[in-house]
Amino acid sequence: MTKHKINVSLFVLNMVLLSFMYWGNSNLAWILLVVFMFFFLILSYGVLFMTFNYFVQSKNAFPKPHVLLTFDDGPNPQTTPIVLDLLKEYNVTAIFFVIGTKAKSENELIRRIMDEGHFIGNHTFSHHPMFALLNGAQVEKEIVELNNLFINQGIQTNLFRPPIGYTNPIIARVVNKLSLNIIGWNKRSYDTVIRNPKKLAKRLLFLAKPGSILLLHDNLKQTAEALSLFLKESEEKGIIFAKKNQINSFLND
Ligand SMILES: [Zn+2]
Repeated sequence: MTKHKINVSLFVLNMVLLSFMYWGNSNLAWILLVVFMFFFLILSYGVLFMTFNYFVQSKNAFPKPHVLLTFDDGPNPQTTPIVLDLLKEYNVTAIFFVIGTKAKSENELIRRIMDEGHFIGNHTFSHHPMFALLNGAQVEKEIVELNNLFINQGIQTNLFRPPIGYTNPIIARVVNKLSLNIIGWNKRSYDTVIRNPKKLAKRLLFLAKPGSILLLHDNLKQTAEALSLFLKESEEKGIIFAKKNQINSFLND
C-alpha cells in the first residue's frame, strides 16, 4: 500500500469518527478543516518531493560508499560532449535522463552516451512545464513517445525521471502500467542557479558524500566547466564514483 492510500484512508476515517464524536458541536467545521489541512499538507509534500516515495517507489540513494552522477535535460550538442570527455578522462559512469525533443536530432550523441558505457533514462518527450497537471493519456504519450524514439535508436531502457521530480497518482499509475524504474536523487546541485563554475564545483565536492545521487544538468555551460574542477579534486579527496556493474545491480535491485 502506498503512503498516499494510507493517508487517504486515515483522512476519511478521521473525518467520519470526528463527525460522530462532535456532531452538534459548533466547532465541528473547524476541527474537520484542521484535519483536511493536515491531509492536504502531506499530499502536497508527496507531490513535490519524490524522495518521500508517497505515490510511487523511487530510488533516491546509492549504496555507500559510492557516489552516482546523474545528468538531466540533455543532450546538448555544445555541452554534453564536454561532459562525456570529462567522464571518460576520469573513468566515471553516469546516468543521462534525456528529453525527446532534444534527443530526436542528436542520434550520434545518444549513441556516444551508450557507447561510452553510460546509462540512458527517459525524462519525457517535451519536459512539459505542467507535467504534473497532465492527464493519464498525456503523461503516457510523453513517456512512450520517447521510449519509441529510443527503440528506433536501438536502445532499451525502463529508467524514468519525472520533470522537476513531481509525482502524483496519475503519474504513478502510468509508471506502474509501463513498469518503469524511477530514479530520483538525494543531492540537488542547483547548477541551474549557481552560474559560477568554481562555486558550483565547491558545492559538488560538499555534496558528494557516500550514498549520494547527484542531480546535474548536462545542457548547462557552468555544469560542464564545474565538472572539470570537481572531478579533478574528487580524485584528491578520494571520492569513489559508482562503476558500471554497481549501477547495474543498483538499478536491478
Ligand atoms: Zn528536467
